[in-house]
Parts: sequence; structure tokens; C-alpha cells
Amino acid sequence: MKAINHYQLPDSAAGLARAIPTDLLIGDRWREGTERQRIDVINPSTGEPLASVADATVKDGLQSIDAAAQAAAGWAATAPRKRAELLRACFERMVANSDWLAQLISLENGKALADAKGEVLYAAEFFRWYAEEAVRLEGEISVSPSGANRIVVMYQPIGVSLLITPWNFPAAMATRKIAPALAAGCTCILKPAEETPLTAYAVAQIMLEAGIPPGVVNVITTSEPAAVVKAMMHDGRIRKLSFTGSTEVGRLLLHEAADTVVNCSMELGGNAPFLVLDDANIADAVAGAMIAKMRNGGEACTAANRFYVQRGVYEEFTKQLVAKMGAVKLGEGSSPDTGCGALINRAAVTKIEQLVADAVGKGARVLLGGTAPSRRGFFYPPTVLADVPAGAEILKQEIFGPVATLVPFDSVDEAIALANDTEYGLVAYVYTSDLKTGLRVSERLDSGMIALNRGLVSDAAAPFGGVKQSGLGREGSHHGIREFTEAKYIAVEW
Ligand code: NAD
Repeated sequence: MKAINHYQLPDSAAGLARAIPTDLLIGDRWREGTERQRIDVINPSTGEPLASVADATVKDGLQSIDAAAQAAAGWAATAPRKRAELLRACFERMVANSDWLAQLISLENGKALADAKGEVLYAAEFFRWYAEEAVRLEGEISVSPSGANRIVVMYQPIGVSLLITPWNFPAAMATRKIAPALAAGCTCILKPAEETPLTAYAVAQIMLEAGIPPGVVNVITTSEPAAVVKAMMHDGRIRKLSFTGSTEVGRLLLHEAADTVVNCSMELGGNAPFLVLDDANIADAVAGAMIAKMRNGGEACTAANRFYVQRGVYEEFTKQLVAKMGAVKLGEGSSPDTGCGALINRAAVTKIEQLVADAVGKGARVLLGGTAPSRRGFFYPPTVLADVPAGAEILKQEIFGPVATLVPFDSVDEAIALANDTEYGLVAYVYTSDLKTGLRVSERLDSGMIALNRGLVSDAAAPFGGVKQSGLGREGSHHGIREFTEAKYIAVEW
């Protein structure tokens, strides 16, 4: 299959030259959008255009459903072992191509190369995990309470799935959906964020090279997601929407889904609290804080947004965190010594500037950073704000950048109340040397995931997801494949 247009990834010292298709992938063809419009992809490190990709219209969106629907029966009937082997081939190919993929992610997203490399390997893990799950989709059988019949339950592919992903993890958020969808026997249409479409096309190209049949994975980029997705949701053939993105857009899509009663999985925003108790090992807590705050430059739904630190260790934790944050080098993602890359766009920088100004205006103290550098690209430096007052906006909104906000607390009950005082409930971090305390606190936190004495929860083998307005459903683990199935119950008498 040949694409008409490509982005030529610059040849680097590592010999990474590679042509990435920049047209829509619909069925067995790469092709331009029907209106032949293009979307510019901007390099956040420079603010300059990097490439352009095809811009899908409503008509293209509906044609992508045609392609996925045509391939659906054949893919559902493909033996689980075969599906597993194809997914395993995707894993191996992705790992083998991880160097140039990381380079590509860093170029279009702005993140540091080390973060991008970590993302590619994490993304590939979903192919490996779901290659293993594809052959383990077990059903249930039981005797009905009356004894009259047997209850047989089997899990069947839910049908054509629409997968919508954000720009912050352009590879991992795509594979976290594609891999379980394909493992379950569903065909899909991926609609990546318009800011980072090149990675999506590169992943699709790798999947085709690995042998995934045409039509099983389709990819469309559009500058009008609202109109295109609305038309697709109302078409009637989409049976599953799996969305990762902001809570605001998630709410809109749940309304859309209501009209045609589409099954939804929603991975939405977060406002993660990070609790450090008096008995915590402070060096460990700071190391965890650096991962929870600075992975992806803070542009993660799981990013620690609010550090609540018990009074007895507040000063020490703050001192060590400032030292570590101050040692992180801000720079272009592709430079090997960069620890914190560019933010996605100018609006992200402006939003952080406003949140910091609001907090400082209300009494927060700036211990590090706090001012955007005057240079090309979209940069904000690692920043630490201490004594952030309760009314500050920065404690209520996702910061999505390298800013740590510190708030002291006295009692554990107070910390739990502060942590739960949000509409979000994705992840919470807890540091304590007492496991009993840690588990008790974990139980009381309104959060889908808890990192106990750890700075990271993401794992293909674990159920990722939130409570409250952070989402519905789970991705990863055996829970993730169930999201792409329907339970069929057969009442049998024998
Ligand atoms: P976003 O909600 O603006 O966009 C996400 C996707 O939705 C993009 O593909 C976009 O094109 C599409 N979209 C936007 N408006 C739409 C509409 N009206 N109809 C249909 N599609 C539409 O989010 P973003 O800025 O790309 O990503 C950042 C957000 O994603 C943050 O809130 C972050 O917390 C969240 N996120 C959550 C998780 C998780 O697993 N819970 C993971 C990563 C990111």
C-alpha cells in the first residue's frame, strides 16, 4: 500500500531516515481527504510547521466506518491465535523501530527524547499484553438457581470501535485502545489529536507491515473533530467509543453517545494529590515526586498536581524537591541532555502563566522558576510554589506542565479531605513508611488508582482508569479487553 504524501523524518546520527505517510488510512488505501485540505503539524520546540497531514471531512469519516464495517466479520472470525500472533508481530516491530518513533514523538509533541523512548516501549507493551490476552477471553457456565437450565455466557466482539486519543501520549494512548480492540476481534477507526497525528500514522504503518489486514485499523485526522465525530456517532454502525482526553470533551461525547446508545469507555482528566506523611522516607518521596510531576514535562493525566506534605517533613521535602527540580534541564526535546521539553502549544504556556500568577497573587511563594523564558517554541521552566492557599485555581485545575504546588497539612484526616476535594479521581500518590497506614489511606482516597510509595502507576498489565469525573471503564489488564466485548447469555436446556 503506497501513500501519496509523506513526512520524511530527518536523518540523524542514529540513521533514523524514515518516510511517514501523512494521508488518511481508510481500508486498503492511504488517501487524501475528499476536500484535499491539509492540517499543519507544528514542532512545539520551534513553533514552526513540521509537516502537514490530510484533513478528513464528514464524508471521509463515514467512509472509514464503511472500511471498518467491511473488515469486521473477517477479523472477528480470525482465529484468536492468529490475532495474537499479529499483535505480537506489532510489538516486535514497534520495539525494533523505537528509536525513530521516539524521535518522531519528540518532534511533534515537544517532549524530551528519554520520555518519548519510554512512551514507545510502554506503547509496545499493549501489543504484547493483548497478544497474550487474545487467546484467554474466557466465558462462564453455571446452573440456573432453579436447576432448570444452564447459563452459558460468552464474550463476543462489540463491533466497530471509534478510538479518540489526545496529544500527550500519541503512541501509548493509541495502542492502549487498538491492541485490546483487535484482541477482542473488533475493527477500529483511530482519530488521533490534530496536534500529534504523525505518530498515529507511523504506528498504523508499522501495524500494516506487521501483517494486520487492511480495514482492521483505519486512521483519520481532522481539523473538525466535533462535526466529523458527531456524524460518525450518529451513523449507527459505531458500537463502541473509547475516548481519552479532557473531561470537558468527554462530557460532550457522552451526550453524543446517548442518541445512538453507544457503549463508552472514558479516560478523562485528573487532579492527582501527592501525600507525604511524616514517617515517609523523604529521599524516596522526592524521587517519586520527580517521576509523578516531571514525566512528560508534567503533561500527563496522572501528573501530581497537588503536593500535600505533613508539617514535620514539609521543609525537608520542599528543600530536596527544589534541588531536584532545579537540576532538570529545559530544552528542545531532541537534545539528549533535555530533561523537560516544550509544552504542546502557546495556549498551554499562557494557561500555566495565568495559574501561577493567580496562586502568587493569593499568597503562594515561588521557590523555583515561575517565569516563561523568552525563546522560540513553547517553554515553561520547572517551577515550585510553596504554601499555595486553598482558594488558588492551580489546586483545582489540571496544570499540565512542570509546576509543583506544595501545601502543608497537620493530620492525615485533613490530608484525605483535601485530596478528595475535587471533581476528579484518577490517581493519588501516598508516601508513608507504615504499610498499614498506607493501605488505610489508599482505601479512603476517591481515586481509581493509588501509587503507594511509587511515582508511577502505568502498566499494561494493570487496570488504568478513574472514578468521579475522571472517567468510565478501565484500560490495560484483562479488564481492558472486556471493554471491547459484549456478554452474550445463552439459556440452554440439556
Ligand atoms: P481534548 O479533550 O482536547 O482532545 C482529545 C481528543 O478529542 C482529540 O483527539 C481531539 O481532537 C478530540 N476532540 C476535541 N473536541 C472534540 C469534539 N467536540 N468531539 C469529538 N472529538 C473531539 O484533550 P487533549 O488536550 O488532547 O488532551 C489532554 C487531556 O487528556 C487532559 O485533560 C488529560 O488529563 C487527558 N488525558 C487523560 C488520560 C487518561 O487516561 N485518563 C490520558 C491522557 C490524557
